[in-house]
Amino acid sequence: MRWDERHFATGEPLRTFRHAVCGAELDPDSRCPTCGQVDVPPGDVEAHPGPGIPAEPRQDPVGVALRQRPHRLLQPLL
Ligand SMILES: [Zn+2]
Repeated sequence: MRWDERHFATGEPLRTFRHAVCGAELDPDSRCPTCGQVDVPPGDVEAHPGPGIPAEPRQDPVGVALRQRPHRLLQPLL
């Protein structure tokens, strides 16, 4: 469980995090269950829109971009 889910949980996660190399969802400790890599570096992580997006989501440019498509961490979103 991530910090934001622990303290602001609404049920489902706003985002999921996947290993960009193989596409598997990472566990909370940044381990890839498919290829076994531990401590997947942030640059190899893709954030995907999750099932917990609220009915009235943020409308600012960053909030909109986060919901539209997956993106790699450490790369500019806009
Ligand atoms: Zn992997």
